[in-house]
Amino acid sequence: MNSGNLQTPIDYLKGVGPNRADILRKELGIHIFGDLLNLFPNRYIDKTRYYKINELQQNSAEVQIVGKITHIKSVAQKRGKRLVADFVDETGKMELVWFRGNKWLKESLKINEPYVIFGKVNWFNGSFSMPHPDMELLKEHQQNMRVAMQPIYPSTEILSNRGISNRVIIKIIQQVFLENKKGFLETLPQSLRKELKLISKTEALFNVHFPQSPEKLTQAQFRLKFEELFYIQLQLLIKNRLRKQKIKGFVFDEVGEYFNQFYKNFLPFELTNAQKRVVKEIRNDLGTGAQMNRLLQGDVGSGKTIVAFMSSLLALDNKFQACIMAPTEILATQHYNGLQEWCEKLGITIELLTGSTKKSGRKIIHENLESGELHILVGTHALLEDKVQFQNLGLAIIDEQHRFGVAQRAKLWKKNTIPPHVLVMTATPIPRTLAMSLYGDLDISVIDELPPGRKSIKTVHRFDNNRLKVFRFIRDEIKKGRQIYIVYPLIEESESMDYKDLMDGYESIARDFPMPEYQISIVHGKMKPADKDYEMKRFANGETQIMVATTVIEVGVNVTNASVMIIESAERFGLSQLHQLRGRVGRGAEQSYCILMTGHKLSSDSKTRLETMVKTNDGFEIAEVDLKLRGPGDIMGTQQSGVLNLKIADIVKDNQILKSARFYAMKLLKEDPNLEEEDHKIVRYTYNLIAKDKTIWNYIS
Ligand code: ADP
Ligand code: MG
Repeated sequence: MNSGNLQTPIDYLKGVGPNRADILRKELGIHIFGDLLNLFPNRYIDKTRYYKINELQQNSAEVQIVGKITHIKSVAQKRGKRLVADFVDETGKMELVWFRGNKWLKESLKINEPYVIFGKVNWFNGSFSMPHPDMELLKEHQQNMRVAMQPIYPSTEILSNRGISNRVIIKIIQQVFLENKKGFLETLPQSLRKELKLISKTEALFNVHFPQSPEKLTQAQFRLKFEELFYIQLQLLIKNRLRKQKIKGFVFDEVGEYFNQFYKNFLPFELTNAQKRVVKEIRNDLGTGAQMNRLLQGDVGSGKTIVAFMSSLLALDNKFQACIMAPTEILATQHYNGLQEWCEKLGITIELLTGSTKKSGRKIIHENLESGELHILVGTHALLEDKVQFQNLGLAIIDEQHRFGVAQRAKLWKKNTIPPHVLVMTATPIPRTLAMSLYGDLDISVIDELPPGRKSIKTVHRFDNNRLKVFRFIRDEIKKGRQIYIVYPLIEESESMDYKDLMDGYESIARDFPMPEYQISIVHGKMKPADKDYEMKRFANGETQIMVATTVIEVGVNVTNASVMIIESAERFGLSQLHQLRGRVGRGAEQSYCILMTGHKLSSDSKTRLETMVKTNDGFEIAEVDLKLRGPGDIMGTQQSGVLNLKIADIVKDNQILKSARFYAMKLLKEDPNLEEEDHKIVRYTYNLIAKDKTIWNYIS
């Protein structure tokens, strides 16, 4: 085996030199020979075909033509000059055009010598032209390594301005291969390669850069994608194992009085099978002696609260305290009110701590928390303050996790010498494929079943000019005693305009739904928290029938009598946000509706989003579509995640390969936990190399 000279700085590669090395480092992050091999082409083009000028079509893609320049001239344009060359072959004539860098070019272009040009042609004023063609003298072209499919590498403006064209990149990558004739170190075990029929590393690298055939290219890509995902999964799995070994957790081996009593006597409804399964998963975790780090996903209304409560009872049964943290005061208060009723029956003490808790009350809470008299503390960020000291916090539950940063969550840990068990609950479903890569080191529970009897929300899309009909519908619903949400978008960059939209909307609604027959609440981000709360409460108590709001109501608010959600300018919302908003209705026994209002001008992405909303209520299905539309980087700010800095694989498109990579990584660790077998040594070696290089971003740490 030969690991070659892949660690050598690129400055030392023939054809690179210090200037180019500098640009390659800055623009493409290429430092060593090995980085060049991992600069994978974005796409490939067929270079076996040479076109004649009279064969060109108005919509030709990129073409390759042999011909000569007969004449060059500079033409004045708005800014500077452009360079125009007449280019002919035996069938016709076209133009080559350069908009920049033309002085140097003009001197270097040769008249009447055969060139091979390559690029995209434009059709303008009855003739063809090719801007900024890739050019090569025919005689050089014939000497170079011929490949049927030419790789096109990622580029930047600076790269092309500084003369590092695609052709230059091809040349220097060829050079790496020339200097490593013996090939490259294999990185996957023989047995695995055999089982999956994977081609060797050397063959894969060669064919991904210089495909010998489309079939070879496919095999090469498959092998390299598999390898990339396999090592990520291995890292996540090993990390999870280490965490469980290293981080001791409290052992909750008692299922005691509180839990049993609640289960036997006070359960307000029968748990769904999904809830039962998740409670069991959590119970298992808490008994293992390792710290629990679990993500609980469940769509809006799937009943996560009771799972959180029963988990807290397990902590209490083992003489520990629990806390539940929510992102807003409204939500924290709702949790508190809901849980208080159950706690009373069981003789459990529970308190609410938020930014608006009075000083005197705060003091008592602090004291009772430290003495252990207080069992469960519910609250907002206020829980993270240094003054909040638990006697023995055993379980921390975090609701609606995307509102909290990693650092904030870590703060909860510091409250103990042994970290508490952590349960993170989210109503924003994360597609399985994404979860696997992002949270492969976390345990995940899913409540994938709604409580029985829930009517699914009817969703429709209406254009703005149907507003009168929509208003009539609202009137009918209000007559039936229902309440209505009307939500306006608020996107920061156009905040003042959005604010105007909201106020205009409010005024027109107020005209159509006049007092005293109708009462309207309004809530938006510019209001004082106290005023917001006041309006929310009026709506929650049924004193107002219509709530006009920006997205501040997005998360968690629970008004069971509200049965209509109208979303204005729905095309401006993301899918997960639309789904969250829709989740505000459908919480009671009545049939609920969601009406998506838009203008007629819709992008194709907007159409897809609206159609998806109309078609399904399933948060996981919606999350999958969202992932496809937006790409993984945009979802939940995962761009911070090293995991998604994939070089060749694509989490969405290669999700089958991802599943297989995970499966084989698990299998390998099961058979040989320490990677000691001869055939696995190469995995350990490669793993250590990668792990040294980059650590995978931690989800909860
Ligand atoms: P979320 O997962 O959105 O936090 P909640 O825990 O707030 O959902 O539950 C939504 C509603 O469903 C609550 O009113 C709750 O009492 C009710 N609920 C939860 N689980 C069940 C169940 N198994 N059977 C009937 N109702 C349930
Ligand atoms: Mg909830």
